[in-house]
Amino acid sequence: VVGLSIAWELANRGVQVDLFEGQAGTPSASWAGAGMIAPVPTRRPADAWGAFRAASLNLHATWAERLHAETGIDTGYRRCGGIDVAIDAADVDRLNQRRPLWEAEGIEAEWLTPAQARQLEPELTGDICGAYLFPGRAQLRNPWHLRALAEASRRRGVRIHSGISVEALEPDGARVASVRTTKGRWACGTLVVAAGPWTERLLAPLGVEAPTPPLRGQIALVRWDAPRLLRIVECGPRYLVPRDDGRVLIGSTEEWAGYDPRPTTAGIAELLAFALRLCPGLGQATLERAWAALRPASRDGLPYIGRVTPFDNLLLAAGHRRTGVQLAPATAVLVADLVTGTQPTWEPTLFGLDRPAVPINLAFDS
Ligand SMILES: Cc1cc2nc3c(=O)[nH]c(=O)nc-3n(C[C@H](O)[C@H](O)[C@H](O)COP(=O)(O)OP(=O)(O)OC[C@H]3O[C@@H](n4cnc5c(N)ncnc54)[C@H](O)[C@@H]3O)c2cc1C
Repeated sequence: VVGLSIAWELANRGVQVDLFEGQAGTPSASWAGAGMIAPVPTRRPADAWGAFRAASLNLHATWAERLHAETGIDTGYRRCGGIDVAIDAADVDRLNQRRPLWEAEGIEAEWLTPAQARQLEPELTGDICGAYLFPGRAQLRNPWHLRALAEASRRRGVRIHSGISVEALEPDGARVASVRTTKGRWACGTLVVAAGPWTERLLAPLGVEAPTPPLRGQIALVRWDAPRLLRIVECGPRYLVPRDDGRVLIGSTEEWAGYDPRPTTAGIAELLAFALRLCPGLGQATLERAWAALRPASRDGLPYIGRVTPFDNLLLAAGHRRTGVQLAPATAVLVADLVTGTQPTWEPTLFGLDRPAVPINLAFDS
C-alpha cells in the first residue's frame, strides 16, 4: 500500500513511475490487514508526528472519493464507528489512561456501560465490564483499496511490473545507478524503496541499516448469514471488523516469527476464543479462511520516511508496523514532496533513519 500510494501521488504530480512488485502469491500485510482507520483528530495536534498522523487519517475520506471517481472502484471506506471494550478492571484502567490523549486530540469518545454497549451492538453478549464508543472510527477493505490504487495509478501512466522482484540496488558513487531485477537491469532516476519488512534486506548490501523486522499478524475470516455487528469492536490488540456483507475479520496476533507468513493453529485458536468470549453468537458463523502476513516494524514504532544518506537519489518509506494503511496517504505526500523538490509538508527529519529515539504516545495502536 505504501509503494502504490507513493506511485499514485507521484503520477498525480506528473512524475513517470515504474513500480516493481515482487513476491506475487504471498499475501502482503497491505492485502492481509484489517483496514481499520483511527478517528480523525479535530484539534490541532501538539507535535509534528501528531500533525502527520492527523493529516493522513483525514486524507482517507478524500482519497476514497477520488479513487472511486477515477476508477469506479469502491474501496470500502466507511465511517462505521468503533467500540473499545473492557473485559476486566485492567482493561478499564488501560482505556481510561488514554482518555486524556483522545481529549487532547478532540476525538469524540463516550463511556458505555455493558447494557449501553449491548443496546448499540446486541451481539456483544459476552462478559464485558464497559466500553468506549468512537463514532469517528472508519474502515476500508484492503484488497479493494489496493485494486483502486493500482487502477488509478495505471490510468495516470504508472507502469506496474507485477511479479518482478528487485534483487539488488547497484550504486555508482553517490547514486544508485540501477536496480537488478528478476527480469533484467533498470536504470534509476530516483529510487524509492517501500518493500515492507523486506526493506532492510534490500538496503543492507549498501551499508544502510534500516531495521524493518517482520511482525507476523494472523486473521480468521468468518461469515454470518447477515451483518449482525455494525461497528469495529476492539479489545487491546484484538478486534472484530464487520464488513457490510456479513463477514467478520477476527484479528490479530503479534509474533516475531521471522519471515514465515503462515497462520498457525494456536494463533487462530486464540483469535477464535477471543471472538467467542465477546460475541458468543459468532459460534454460529461459518469459518471461511485464515491467513497471516508480516508487518514491517521499525526501531521505535515510527516509520522511516525520507532520503537515505549518502545517496543523492535514494529514498525509503517503510516500517509502519500496525498503521501502514492509515499512514500511507501522508507518507505518499511527504515522499512526493521530497522527490519533486517541493517544500515538504511535514518535517522529514522526524522520520529519518538517524533520528534520536523519541517516546511516542499513541492514542490508537491500529
Ligand atoms: C493482520 C494485520 C492487520 C493489520 N491491520 C491494520 C489496520 O487495521 N490498519 C492499518 O493501518 N494497518 C494495519 N496493518 C498494518 C499494515 O497492513 C502495514 O503497516 C502495511 O500494509 C505496510 O505496508 P507496506 O507497503 O510498507 O508493506 P507490504 O504490505 O509488506 O508491501 C511491501 C511490498 O513490497 C514487495 N516487495 C518486497 N520486496 C521486494 C523486492 N525485493 N522486489 C519487489 N517487490 C518487493 C512485497 O511483495 C509487497 O508487495 C495490519 C497488518 C496485518 C498483518
